[in-house]
Formats: sequence, structure tokens, C-alpha cells
Amino acid sequence: MSTAELRKLPSIDRLLQEEAVAGARAQFGQELTVQTARELLDTVRTDIVAQDATCPDLPELAGRLVAQLHLTARPTLRPVINATGVIIHTNLGRALLSDAARAAMDAAGAGYSNLEYDLEEGQRGSRYVHAVALLQRLTGAEDALVVNNNAAAVLLCLMALARDRGVIISRGQLVEIGGGFRIPEVLQTSGARLVEVGSTNRTHLADYHDAIGPDIAALLRVHSSNFRQVGFTAEVSLADLVVLGRKHGLPVIDDLGSGTLLDTSLYGLTYEPRVQDSVRAGATLVTFSGDKLLGGPQAGIIVGSSEAIARLRHYPLTRALRVDKTTLAALAATLVHYLRGEATSKIPVWRMIATPRDALEARAQSWAMALRDRGVAAEVWAGESTVGGGSLPGETLPTSLLALPSLPADRMANALRNGDTPVIARITQDALVLDPRTVATAEEQTLLRQVIWAAGTLDV
Ligand SMILES: *Cc1c(COP(=O)(O)O)cnc(C)c1O
Repeated sequence: MSTAELRKLPSIDRLLQEEAVAGARAQFGQELTVQTARELLDTVRTDIVAQDATCPDLPELAGRLVAQLHLTARPTLRPVINATGVIIHTNLGRALLSDAARAAMDAAGAGYSNLEYDLEEGQRGSRYVHAVALLQRLTGAEDALVVNNNAAAVLLCLMALARDRGVIISRGQLVEIGGGFRIPEVLQTSGARLVEVGSTNRTHLADYHDAIGPDIAALLRVHSSNFRQVGFTAEVSLADLVVLGRKHGLPVIDDLGSGTLLDTSLYGLTYEPRVQDSVRAGATLVTFSGDKLLGGPQAGIIVGSSEAIARLRHYPLTRALRVDKTTLAALAATLVHYLRGEATSKIPVWRMIATPRDALEARAQSWAMALRDRGVAAEVWAGESTVGGGSLPGETLPTSLLALPSLPADRMANALRNGDTPVIARITQDALVLDPRTVATAEEQTLLRQVIWAAGTLDV
């Protein structure tokens, strides 16, 4: 330990007098600045005592203090540029919101609203009425209820309709969605008893029929969102389940997962079951996510018969799953896009799905040109984007990728992730590739700047 070095350690007051620190103090406040300065000086003192370190000079200490203040105040949730080409990227925030949805959220957040107030009657209203009329019109269902996410929606349906009783489901539908959402575990949590029927690859109507008994409360169908069965397979149609359910007075719950209101087959994708189809087939309750193919905020949407929805609305758990006013505002604004027939131009998820290949090619070419001008070797490759979000597994949309085959892909990906504005890219055939499909035009300049900066850090 060096006493001479310890003696060089400034007092907190002296450190705060440094010009750089004075500026930071105005920005971060006296209390946080003093606290951070104390922590910094403690660390430096420990280093001197324990590791014989030398004492940094005042400008360096000031610099470290300011850097630490910025780090402390930086939100952990930060914007990133998604250049992966995965449209509904579960790890990067799923669906982006339309301008109208964001404006509606802003208005709901900035001012008071009639969230639970009936303006006509001048008395207490219900938060559950919002978005209901829109959902009725768009799906054909008698009633609707919005909760926090689809996992909550499924749990609520099972608890309210089948707690302490049996629920029949095909073995081929005991799926894991990701993020720990496994149908058998959700059933267990709900207090309902799992009654599996059929085999992994084939289940027939007779299997359901044979399992029906006095203890059974519901039939459950779960869409196999993120995988696909091929070969010798059979599942019972929803319409057949509904007929069977009606005969025995049993409700049919249909968890669609993503759910969509539009026909995915118009965009070169396999037909993903639409919410309207399930309603028309007669499902008692249909559940789906707000932020998958619907392209809205995180929410779980339940549509179905008035009687079943009324039961859910009055179930005590519903209060614990209720959505925020900003969510309701964004959801309603998103649904209005469908009503107006403008979903593919206004809702980002659908705009990205519908972007034609030649538009993507033009953007990738312009990126390549801009990068070559700055000395970064870039090419344009044919590639594939995916929809993601546990929908349309194995399905791809043709795209044009910006490829950087002459740079070490791992190190480049790492540098891009750790820049000022993180950029998340993909590695294909040992090359770093960037897909314009999921990059907004407004993000392009930042993206190119980050690529040039990252390439410059590699020393190749
Ligand atoms: C995604 C999904 C869920 C969970 O939905 P969240 O909105 O993520 O809670 C449940 N079931 C299925 C079939 C899904 O695809």
C-alpha cells in the first residue's frame, strides 16, 4: 500500500469542483452525483490499498465519474435496430405499433380518459367495454374480453370454465410455446385436470368422445404455432369438436396463439387459421395474442359467446390480468386499421410482410453502394425473411440481404450489438447479413453509420 498515492486522492468536494463534473451535476442532480463520487473514490481507495494501484489524476477521476453517471441513468430497455429479417421477433419486442396506435397510447397516457366512466350516464363505467365493439365487428363474435397476454387469456378461460374438473386435449397439441409456456403446465396451474387423448401424430373424434364423462368441463384445442407435423397425421377439425361439445353441453376453447384477421395465403405464406374462422366454426371461446400477427400491443384477446365472456368478466382472476389504458388505446387504434381496410399499409407487421422483393432489393443495393463508398466491402445476396413470433413455422418470404462476407462475422455481430445504437444482425454462410425488411427507412442512416463504425473497430 502506498501512503503517498492515498494522499493524492481528492476529497469529494474537490472532485465536484471539476468543470466536467459541474455539468453532470446539473444534469443528474446533486444527490446522485455526490453518491456516485463517493462510490468512485471508495473503489479507487480500495484499489490503492489492496492492489498497490496509483491514484488517477483529477481529470481522469472526473471523466470516470461522468461516465458512471451516464451508465447509471441509462435505461436498460433500449431501442435496437432489428436487421434479422424476423418480423415478429420475440426477443426484440414482437410487433411494432402503427403511428395511430402510438398516438392513441400517448393521448391515453398524457391525459385523463373515460377508462372506467360512462360519459352518457355520468357514472362509473367499465374498462372492459373498450375495443369490444370493434372485436365483435371484426371477428363476428358475440362478445370479447382483453387481458394482459394470451398466456393469461388461456389460463383465465381454463380456470373460469374448468377448475377442479377435466379438460380434454389431443396429445398432438400438448405444445411448448417458448418462454416456459407449456400447455400441460398451464393446465396444471389452472387447477384443471389434463385429459390427453389420441397419440402424438393422430387423434380422432372417437378419442374425444370416449373420454367424455361427468367430470369433463371443456374441450381444448391449441394451435401448433411454432412447429408443424407432417406425414401420417390427423387432428379433429374445430367444427367437429364443436358438434361433439354441443351434444354433451361442453364448451370448446380454441387457443389460436398468433391468430390473424387477414388471409396469410395472399402473401405467399401458408394459410394461418383466422379468428373469424374459429368464431364461425362455433368455438365457445377463442384466444389470441395482441402482438403477434394482429400487429398491436401486448395483450391477450378472448372472443366468444356472451355467456362465456360474461363468466370470465366476473371471475376474480380477471382483475389481476387487466390491461393498462394505453394498451386498450393502442389495441383499438390497431383494430380500426382492419375496419378501414388499411392494415397492410398502416400496421408495421403487415407492411413488412407485404413489402415486395424488388423494394427490398433496391434498399439493399443502396446500402451496399453507400458502404462501398466508405471503403466497406459489401454485396447483395438473395435470402429469406421469416414471420416469427411462433407463427408460420418454416415459412419464409424471399428477400435481398446486405452481406459483408469479407469481415469476420462473429466479431462484426458483436461490435454491432455493442454500439451506441445496437444493431442485431444474422450470420449466414459465415457472413454477417442485414435484412432491409425489418429495418425502417428512418433507421437506415444510423444503421449504415453503425456498420462503418463497427467495421472500423475490427482492424482487418
Ligand atoms: C404465443 C402463444 C401463446 C402465448 O401468447 P402470449 O401473448 O405470448 O402470452 C399461447 N398459445 C399459443 C398457441 C401461442 O402461440
